[in-house]
Amino acid sequence: MTEQEKIELRDRIQSVQERIARAAEQAGRKPEDIILVAASKMNNAERVQAAISAGIRVCGENRVQELLEKYEQNAYQGADLQFIGTLQTNKVKYLIGKVSLIQSVGSVHLGEAIAKEAAKHGVCQDILLEVNIGREAAKSGLPPEELDEAIARLSEKKSLHIRGLMAIPPIADEFTKNLGYFNEMQQVFVDNLTKKYDNVDMDYLSMGMTNDFETAIACGANMVRIGTAIFGARPYQIVSP
Ligand SMILES: *Cc1c(COP(=O)(O)O)cnc(C)c1O
Repeated sequence: MTEQEKIELRDRIQSVQERIARAAEQAGRKPEDIILVAASKMNNAERVQAAISAGIRVCGENRVQELLEKYEQNAYQGADLQFIGTLQTNKVKYLIGKVSLIQSVGSVHLGEAIAKEAAKHGVCQDILLEVNIGREAAKSGLPPEELDEAIARLSEKKSLHIRGLMAIPPIADEFTKNLGYFNEMQQVFVDNLTKKYDNVDMDYLSMGMTNDFETAIACGANMVRIGTAIFGARPYQIVSP
């Protein structure tokens, strides 16, 4: 990375932090209560380290293979590492002991696989349950109406700690910005706050990405996952002329 690229990265991070702070204040909340997760996919170890030097405290990866490669290169040193992507049960074993939080647990089956692997390592794994709030057939996650039963079943696992909910709403256009889905998620989250289960604490509502994180914060998100606004467009997002 050139010095100029590092300066630009630092500026983008600062700008994102300021926008988060403003959105939090507008929603009557404290900026420090919102956790910024830098979605670092397709950014190499050097760029991830530069982001951490510029103030990033949490990194989120969405592919196991990429995470392992960068982990070996000490990319995440100085930050907390989380997993935010689609996860196959046979890959769970690579994450235990490396990630503090698995955000994308979209089925009881996956939750059980994580519980089993965590127990094997003698640890308790923090997870979020992923809710398929748009009820999209092609997307993973629990439909809202199946959430209750999933929580009840996974709360029995001593090696799991459910810390909240995560959602990736359908791709929105500029104007609707997923407000309806975010509102629905907030309702689902609040409904679950009052329920008492072992091993369940509804601490985090993870929603909001580059295009809609301010809307998500207005709707109660306290964890946002941001890639493009921090690192710039990923290679495949750049449309060649
Ligand atoms: C890439 C990614 C993000 C961030 O997306 P941007 O639009 O680049 O901010 C958030 N969440 C998940 C699960 C991702 O894979």
